[in-house]
Amino acid sequence: MGQLYARDLTTTDIVIEHATVLPPVSASRTGVRFNTYQAFAERVRLFENGLHCVGLWHTHPVSTPEPSMNDELLAANYARAAAEDLSGIVFVILGTKPFPQGIGVWFHDQKSLRRLTAEASR
Ligand SMILES: [Zn+2]
Repeated sequence: MGQLYARDLTTTDIVIEHATVLPPVSASRTGVRFNTYQAFAERVRLFENGLHCVGLWHTHPVSTPEPSMNDELLAANYARAAAEDLSGIVFVILGTKPFPQGIGVWFHDQKSLRRLTAEASR
């Protein structure tokens, strides 16, 4: 798992420029746990280099990933914590199938988690 970063938040299209890898504390089919202090420290360090954290990614050991209940809570917590700076966060889950079936992209707007498709993101 890791965090997703973008440099410029003022443009219509936000480009994910950097993805990090945070070592999981534990991972299971229902959720991923990580060191929140380590994640926070990473955001502070990269912000000093002009990068804004705009979301999270992690993997599921299934072909086509879907967010678990814990994932929905994690996305909601992240979105609400970032509410001062962001209208929402990107939540990416990588499954085992190749693109596009194996990659799920969602957006949490502090209210709900919605799946993004190529059409919906335009
Ligand atoms: Zn998950």
